Amino acid sequence: MNRSKKEKREFDVVVIGGGASGMMAAGIAAKRGRKVAIVEKNKKLGKKLDITGGGRCNITNAEHDVHKFLAKYSDAQQFLYSPFSQFSAEDTFSFFENRKLPIVVEARKRAFPKTQNAPDVTNALYKMLIENNVNIFTDSAIIEMKKDGEKITEAHSKDAIFSGKSFIIATGGNSHPETGSTGDVFKWLKKLGHTIKESSPDIVPLSTSDSWGHKLSGTSLSFMKVTFYANGKRAFSETGKILFTHFGVSGPLILNCARKVADLFHIGKVTATIDAFPDTEIGTLEKNILKLIDANKNKDFFNVFKEIAPKGTSVHIFPLLGIDASKKSNSITKEERSKVAHILKALPLTITGLMGFDRAVVSDGGVILSEIDTKTMRSRLYKNLYLTGDILHIQRPSGGYSLQLCWTTGYVAGLNS
Ligand SMILES: Cc1cc2nc3c(=O)[nH]c(=O)nc-3n(C[C@H](O)[C@H](O)[C@H](O)COP(=O)(O)OP(=O)(O)OC[C@H]3O[C@@H](n4cnc5c(N)ncnc54)[C@H](O)[C@@H]3O)c2cc1C
Repeated sequence: MNRSKKEKREFDVVVIGGGASGMMAAGIAAKRGRKVAIVEKNKKLGKKLDITGGGRCNITNAEHDVHKFLAKYSDAQQFLYSPFSQFSAEDTFSFFENRKLPIVVEARKRAFPKTQNAPDVTNALYKMLIENNVNIFTDSAIIEMKKDGEKITEAHSKDAIFSGKSFIIATGGNSHPETGSTGDVFKWLKKLGHTIKESSPDIVPLSTSDSWGHKLSGTSLSFMKVTFYANGKRAFSETGKILFTHFGVSGPLILNCARKVADLFHIGKVTATIDAFPDTEIGTLEKNILKLIDANKNKDFFNVFKEIAPKGTSVHIFPLLGIDASKKSNSITKEERSKVAHILKALPLTITGLMGFDRAVVSDGGVILSEIDTKTMRSRLYKNLYLTGDILHIQRPSGGYSLQLCWTTGYVAGLNS
């Protein structure tokens, strides 16, 4: 369709991308009396938001000390002081609770809607858009932006031209592209002169080559200590929950280690060990094993091992011991006992890589912060362009910190656009 046939629509604020940060920005701008359009390429708003937190939406983190909260954002900490002074995690609680969406706090201060249903969060935001007369355009991908000097003038979809006094780009990063965040917008931002730190999967599971782990797919184990090695040299350890999958390992501990593990691949081969008894010294564990063997002398050792190994894992870990499954407990040697203790303290994994964008919670990379005004989220290159959410290069862990970034940056852009 050529330009003359495109329908022209005029607004004060045009928000491109109807995810978490775009909906927040559009609603806040409209509450200020601005004539707002939100343009989303999917048939519905908030497709990614609907699947967050395993469908429960870890909406923020209930760490109300802003300094401690911001410490989670590594290099972006300083940049975020101003936006968080305008909209903090505490404000997220009041914002949603005032919209009849009570929030409950779980382990590690992770906050969820009481309904435990992520689409309720999307609906709360959607309602704000409707109540404030935001013009919602779904099934409308923006394919091009026009500029005039230091101003953005138009955003073009296949069949419409959206002109605006201000533009907010809230098109997300690269993770789970099936939700719409395909990262193609980075190409036009580059064309507009912005510097984009190349994107890579982050908060992402790891792939392993060990069949014993693959066979445990679906098993999750709490309080495991994982130690990572590069070329056999110890790099770092973390303790937490692991989820075994058919391709490797996941779960909060692993997801939050992924970035550091990616760095280890620059050194060389990456391996890991899982300590299933991080609070028990190896000597004590050996003694406990001996006691159990003594109490079950005539049993097959495999049945005794079942009582020692973490629940649900014995069948797949046992082959690592190299002990005949039918061997009686009373014929287990000292060396074999020691092997059992050593394996349980260091279950071996070979890490083959990080999984891709399709399994990543977020992507690392995006527009660099030195090109954004911290007080307003305005581009330093264009007077009327604002950037929010995952499109920004801000590293953070899992636990509600990504969505809080969206609420904060969306709010600030909505307030200033
Ligand atoms: C499986 C999963 C679980 C997660 N769970 C949590 C969690 O529990 N807690 C947490 O804090 N974070 C979580 N996250 C991260 C969180 O979802 C993101 O940080 C957040 O959704 C990013 O919001 P956003 O507004 O930047 O972009 P998105 O939510 O990705 O929205 C961007 C929108 O822009 C649209 N778009 C893209 N290009 C165009 C275009 N050219 N024209 C028009 N529209 C366009 C897309 O279709 C999309 O709807 C999770 C992520 C995933 C993948």
